[in-house]
Amino acid sequence: MTQNLLLAPAPPEAAPADTALLPRDLLDLFDVLEQDLRTRSCAHGFSATRRFLLARGLPVASTLAFLKAHGGHCDCTVLSRVERNWWRAPVGRESA
Ligand SMILES: [Zn+2]
Repeated sequence: MTQNLLLAPAPPEAAPADTALLPRDLLDLFDVLEQDLRTRSCAHGFSATRRFLLARGLPVASTLAFLKAHGGHCDCTVLSRVERNWWRAPVGRESA
């Protein structure tokens, strides 16, 4: 049995249960926002984030509250701040 040297600390906080948001959903959201913001500049609203949540059937209000609590106040800050603040460790990227 090999030692797992990739054991990394858990993310600072998991998404709260009431958002029904999985780490995988957040990673996908970051990807979608990254793509989206390559082709347009942020209107400083949550249009792309909302679209993503609605498409997945995820709760919008509680998820936006979660994102705001982590520094995301629009699509571009969700990408630039929440990704950094919340998802520091690459835990689960391969298994999510
Ligand atoms: Zn913005």
